[in-house]
Amino acid sequence: MSSIDNLPPLREVIARHDLRAKKQLGQNFLLDLNLTAKIARQAGDLDECDVLEIGPGPGGLTRGLLAEGARHVLAIEKDARALPALAEIAAAYPGRLSVIHGDALQIDPLQHLTPPIRVAANLPYNIGTELLIRWLTPADWPPFWQSLTLMFQKEVAERIVARPGSKAYGRLALLAQWRADARIVMTLPPEAFVPGPKIHSAVVQLTALPGPRFPADPAILSQITAAAFNQRRKMLRASLRGLHPQIEALLDQAGIAPTARAEEIELERFCTLARALQARRDAGTP
Ligand code: SAM
Repeated sequence: MSSIDNLPPLREVIARHDLRAKKQLGQNFLLDLNLTAKIARQAGDLDECDVLEIGPGPGGLTRGLLAEGARHVLAIEKDARALPALAEIAAAYPGRLSVIHGDALQIDPLQHLTPPIRVAANLPYNIGTELLIRWLTPADWPPFWQSLTLMFQKEVAERIVARPGSKAYGRLALLAQWRADARIVMTLPPEAFVPGPKIHSAVVQLTALPGPRFPADPAILSQITAAAFNQRRKMLRASLRGLHPQIEALLDQAGIAPTARAEEIELERFCTLARALQARRDAGTP
């Protein structure tokens, strides 16, 4: 008997449904239900929330989310072999688990969810960053989600929460921290998974802010950070030259030394630069 529900242990579920992990689907399963319940608790108060889970696999985290009281879980899974195991969980929690069989990159889950919505997932590593960037760049803010509780390779998690001056600091940190609070809430060794990946993993908790931390046009901010970090070793006056003929004056205006490099610059300064650039472009002045 497992510790969080009356369903069979996950090893037994995996053996019975022949759910041998497939590398091409990024399958590294969590089999310890105490651990999945702990991850589910990091997602915050689930009682009144719908939870979107990507890649439930045999359902360890799904069971954690349901046991922790999620109002409803919508799980999107690409691997048809996992569906019978997930159907058993749905039967044990009547009306609280819906499963969509398909590719999370192709499916718009919103029509199946009722706010407030949280997202929780032990993500397949090959699509994790792409999904995160989508969730961080919706057409309107606030986004459909209140929080994202996501497992990543530790190196990716560190890029999401990185501060200026570190090697990990770059576009992903700026994107995540501009309109959300982002922190690492757990680190897991390879042994926590079956099969164990080569690297450590970490759970990142992102909480949506009501609006941007500092005002800036998203497209202009994105242009600046792309140019700045694509050539992160260069001085900003060189890497941003293509954005405006008088980029040095704009950098000065934003309080940024033209000789500084991207990784030294705080989010607030990038936002100030984005507003200065926008004002120049709007005014049509060279
Ligand atoms: N949540 C389970 C756990 O924690 O044990 C499984 C996590 S495993 C790292 C990733 C899961 O995502 C697998 O079940 C895999 O089949 C599924 N998956 C991979 N690519 C997917 C995609 N494009 N859309 C939906 N699910 C996907």
